[in-house]
Amino acid sequence: MDYQTHEHDVLVIGAGGAGLRAAIEASAAGVSVGLVCKSLLGKAHTVMAEGGIAAALANVDDRDNWKVHFADTMRGGQYVNNWRMAELHAKEAPDRVRELEAWGAVFDRTKDGRILQRNFGGHRYPRLAHVGDRTGLELIRTLQDHGIHQGIDVHMECTIIRLLKDGDRVVGAFGYERERGRFKLFKARAVILATGGIGRAYKITSNSWEYTGDGHTLAYDAGAELVDMEFVQFHPTGMIWPPSVRGILVTEAVRGEGGVLKNKEGRRFMFDEIPDNYRAQTADNEEEGWRYTQGDKAARRPPELLTRDHVSRCIVREIKAGRGSPHGGVFLDISWIKARVPNGADHIKKKLPSMYHQFKQLADIDITQEPMEVGPTTHYIMGGVRVDADTQMSTVPGLFAAGECAAGINGANRLGGNSLSDIIVFGKRAGEYAAKYAKAQTSTAVDTPQADEAARRALEPFERSTSGEGPYQVQYALQEMMQDLVGIVRNESEMQRALDGLAPLRDRANRVGVGGHREYNPGWHAALDLHNLLTVSEAITRSALERRESRGGHFRDDYPTKDARFGTINFVVRKGRDGQMDVFSVAIPEMPETLKQVIKDME
Ligand SMILES: Cc1cc2nc3c(=O)[nH]c(=O)nc-3n(C[C@H](O)[C@H](O)[C@H](O)COP(=O)(O)OP(=O)(O)OC[C@H]3O[C@@H](n4cnc5c(N)ncnc54)[C@H](O)[C@@H]3O)c2cc1C
Repeated sequence: MDYQTHEHDVLVIGAGGAGLRAAIEASAAGVSVGLVCKSLLGKAHTVMAEGGIAAALANVDDRDNWKVHFADTMRGGQYVNNWRMAELHAKEAPDRVRELEAWGAVFDRTKDGRILQRNFGGHRYPRLAHVGDRTGLELIRTLQDHGIHQGIDVHMECTIIRLLKDGDRVVGAFGYERERGRFKLFKARAVILATGGIGRAYKITSNSWEYTGDGHTLAYDAGAELVDMEFVQFHPTGMIWPPSVRGILVTEAVRGEGGVLKNKEGRRFMFDEIPDNYRAQTADNEEEGWRYTQGDKAARRPPELLTRDHVSRCIVREIKAGRGSPHGGVFLDISWIKARVPNGADHIKKKLPSMYHQFKQLADIDITQEPMEVGPTTHYIMGGVRVDADTQMSTVPGLFAAGECAAGINGANRLGGNSLSDIIVFGKRAGEYAAKYAKAQTSTAVDTPQADEAARRALEPFERSTSGEGPYQVQYALQEMMQDLVGIVRNESEMQRALDGLAPLRDRANRVGVGGHREYNPGWHAALDLHNLLTVSEAITRSALERRESRGGHFRDDYPTKDARFGTINFVVRKGRDGQMDVFSVAIPEMPETLKQVIKDME
């Protein structure tokens, strides 16, 4: 078949923060760059990020530095992180944030004009550079404005459905225009995946329609390895009422600004259980917690700012014990700070403008006057494409990955704010090394039968337009199953049921039918997403079954404690010879003494 064909030295799939930063870097290295995204440029998921970018700039607390940030990230990830990525991230994030400022990002300011930083869960000092609660918007705007002048070719509203290989090497990608349904073939000397997460595999999620695990699946199908897939982050605070907005994120910045969690008895239940490894850093009374949020360096952080995995489980405990709010969550109250802050209502609106409007418009709640109702929501995946820490190349030559679809830096749990810094630190690295790799390649031989096969498979749902089941029924059944059986609290028998349930769902997905034609056909797009959602769901379930302990985002009530034997390994997923999914463990390399010492010094 003939396809509209484009050729670039480096093809970046995904135009969120990671993809844009990678494209800028590759282009600056003098290679031609194509950037593909599912929606309009500027509408990537990064734009939704609210709270801020974690970087040890030490503008608000001069005790901060890369070592503290590194130790916080490792502690948050419960030491199964890729320590080299955590080290690079902590060291390079400040430069990447200052670079954004130089490129025009307008951050909130300290009184003396430096970038303002706020408190966030798991970060010892105020570390999140922010723009109110619209930080992602500013990040994307800045990268887009900068990138637009670099000569990058942008292919908007185009979904990639297959990576193309020449022998072992990735040499291109194949996709379709969402608007017109026409196929497109991209030849490239190097490909960078920057496709974000998988949240749509679950029923309750903060993620938009774009997060269907595409990059994870494209990489897996091309023979790359995925790692840490059992670690899914359930953010403690999503909206729960009305039902139409369930899952929408309520930023952690609310707690960073002094918001507190209460059960229906009005009690701050987060003081009930403080993990041993955070006890020394956590306030043991409400007054001290408040002073911390107001910048008192002698105070320790309130337990509402413990890591997300822990806060989510405490909320679930309250709900299960019958102490939840009327709609099945708990209360998050920022309005109480009016008693402590002059012009409190205006202060809240200034610090949390999006939250104010979100609740006012979607739930008719004025957060300056009354508490919000919140509950956990699927937010982020720590797992993703297994990459080399320095270069971001996957285990397949020519294929790189960065941002949420790559893995390693976060281990078992991500600290809030560490994703926005991850995407710019490792987006830059991916762009740099992909450009280097591309320059060293001589030819890009693309074999069109691979594209023909992808096109044929993609069109199959139309052949069953009247006989097949609709794709949304299968999607809903999968989301429901993952939510119920592989969610916040897991166990062997439920996950086994999920695994057994995946095979019939895959059969159903292979038989879905779609009516109409290829132009503007969301049903068709949903049908094509199913393979990705099923693949990541299987990878999560299989890895979670193997990790017979509780660690970070992965909690099992049949193995409720951490087990040191699992503290030295990661689980890796790879496509086997016969197409089956193989899961195996790999040892985490020994950490250098210098880094071990950093962690010890920060205890
Ligand atoms: C509501 C919300 C608030 C958040 N707040 C914060 C915060 O304050 N701080 C923080 O650090 N993190 C935050 N996060 C997490 C953070 O925003 C994301 O992890 C991060 O932005 C991911 O960036 P990315 O570049 O990897 O992917 P994205 O920004 O999601 O970009 C993915 C890109 O890939 C494209 N794409 C996907 N599949 C395909 C395909 N098949 N073909 C072509 N293109 C494709 C998409 O169109 C998009 O352009 C938040 C997340 C959410 C949902």
